Amino acid sequence: MSTDAAPSAVRHTRIVATIGPVSRDPEVLKQLIQAGVDVCRINCSHASAEAIRGDVARIRRTAMACGKNVAVLLDLQGPKIRTGKVQKPLPLERGDVLRVVMDSALVGTGEPEPGRVFVVGTTWTRMSLDVLPGEPVLFADGALLGQVVAVRQGGAGPDEVDIRIDVGGALGSNKGINMPETKIQAPALTEKDLHDVAVGVEAGADYVALSFARSADDVNMLRAELQRLGAGDVPIVAKIEKPQGVANIDEILQVVQGIMVARGDLGVEIPFEQVPGVQKMLIEKANKAGVLVITATQMLDSMERNPRPTRAEITDVANAILDGTDAVMLSGETASGNWPIEAVSVMDRIARQVEGSEWFRLPPLHHLPASSVAEGTVLRAACYAVREVSAPMVVFTWTGATAIKASKSRPRQGVFAITHNHQVADRLAMAWGVRAVTLPVIEGTDELIAAGEKALIDAGFVQPGAEVVLLAGRAPMRGATNMMKVEVVDGRFHR
Ligand code: PEP
Repeated sequence: MSTDAAPSAVRHTRIVATIGPVSRDPEVLKQLIQAGVDVCRINCSHASAEAIRGDVARIRRTAMACGKNVAVLLDLQGPKIRTGKVQKPLPLERGDVLRVVMDSALVGTGEPEPGRVFVVGTTWTRMSLDVLPGEPVLFADGALLGQVVAVRQGGAGPDEVDIRIDVGGALGSNKGINMPETKIQAPALTEKDLHDVAVGVEAGADYVALSFARSADDVNMLRAELQRLGAGDVPIVAKIEKPQGVANIDEILQVVQGIMVARGDLGVEIPFEQVPGVQKMLIEKANKAGVLVITATQMLDSMERNPRPTRAEITDVANAILDGTDAVMLSGETASGNWPIEAVSVMDRIARQVEGSEWFRLPPLHHLPASSVAEGTVLRAACYAVREVSAPMVVFTWTGATAIKASKSRPRQGVFAITHNHQVADRLAMAWGVRAVTLPVIEGTDELIAAGEKALIDAGFVQPGAEVVLLAGRAPMRGATNMMKVEVVDGRFHR
C-alpha cells in the first residue's frame, strides 16, 4: 500500500541547472528549460568573460523562446585554493611529506625527493603566513588528508609548508586545498571575481553568488562592488561552505537575499557527518529570515554517468524539499554529464511527488518574516486565508520581496506575483511556488487589481470564477504591503 498521495500537477520547488560544455548547446539548453529548469547557474570557475557573456545571452534568448521566466545566477569562483601543476600525479602514501612551495608557477615532477618528500606549488602563496603546525589540510575535495608539520618562512627561496600525509592517494594538478581550521586571510573577492562580476552584471545576471562567504563583511564587500558598478540592487546569494560561514549565518542572513547550502566544500570543511544537520539548520534559518535557499551538490551525482539515479540520491532530493529548500541544484549533471535532460526530469518527478505527499508539512505562520507590523499582520492573514479556502495567493509586488515572504508559508496552490519589472519576474523564478506576470505601472488600486486578474487569466494561471487571496501595498518600498482581500476572479476585463 502506498502511503503517498498523488504527485502535485504543478511543481513548486525550483530547479537550478549549472551550465557547462553539454548545456551550452542551444538545443540541449532549450530541452533543459522545457524539462523544468528555473535558474541557470554560470560557474565562473570554468567560464571566461566571453563564455559568461555568451551564456547570459543564450539563456535569455532560449527562455524567451520557451515563454518562461528563467533567472541567471552568476557564481563567482571566490578564493578557491588549489595545487599548482604537476607533470604526473603524486602517488602520496601515509607517512609521506608533501612540501607545498609558495610559488604558483612551480611544476611538480611527480617524483619524490629523498625521504619520500613530494613537492607541489599552490595558487595561494600566502598559505605559509596563515597555517600553523598541527592544522589539518585536505586535498582534492577531501580525498587526501594531512597535517602541517613545519612552516619555513623568510629563506632565500619561496616559503614552504610541509604536510605529513595521513590519508594518501594520487594528487594531480589544480586540485582543491581546504584548511578548515586555518584562519585564512584571503580577500572575499579575488581579481578574477572583480572582473567576472563586472562582466556578469553588465550582461544582465539576475543574482551573484559569493563563494566561501565567512561573514556579513564579506558580503558587504561584494555589495560595495555592485554599487560601484551601478548594480547595487542585484541580489546576492552567499554560499555557505566554510565553518565561519556556518557560525556567522545569522549576520549573513541580514545582508543577503539568498544562501546556498554548498555541500561540496562544506562536506570537506566540516566533518561530513555534520552536513545533514547543518543543512536543516541553514534552511530553517533562511526561511524564517525570508531569504531564498538553494541546496546544492551531488544531488543526482550518478546521473552524470547513468540514466537513472540511485535510491540514496532520490531520497536526498526529497529530504532537501521536506527540509524546506526553495531550490535544488544540479552541477556536473547538467554541465558535463551524459544525461542532463533526464536529471532535470528526475528532479521534477521527485519534487512533485514530495510536494503532494502528507510528509510535506506546512511551516507555522508565526515564523513568517515581515519588515513592518502592517505587513506582518496582512501577510499572516493572507497565508491563513489560503490554507482555509485552498486558493492561490496573488501578490502585487515591486521588488519581489513580498512574494518571497508569502511563498515561505508554502501555499499549496502557489503564489502568483504581479510586477511591472521584468527582471523581478525573472528573479522570482528562484522562489518556491512563485509564478510571475508583468504589467505596466497602473495608478489606482481597483484598476491595478482588475488588470492583474486579467493578466492571470490571459496567462492561463487562473480561470474566471476562481477564488484568490490578494495581497497588495500602496508604495514601492519595503514593508508597504498593507492590504489583503479574498475575492472571486470575475474576468470582467477579460475579452
Ligand atoms: C559546493 O562546494 O557545493 C559548490 C556549489 O561550490 P562549487 O561548485 O563552486 O565548488
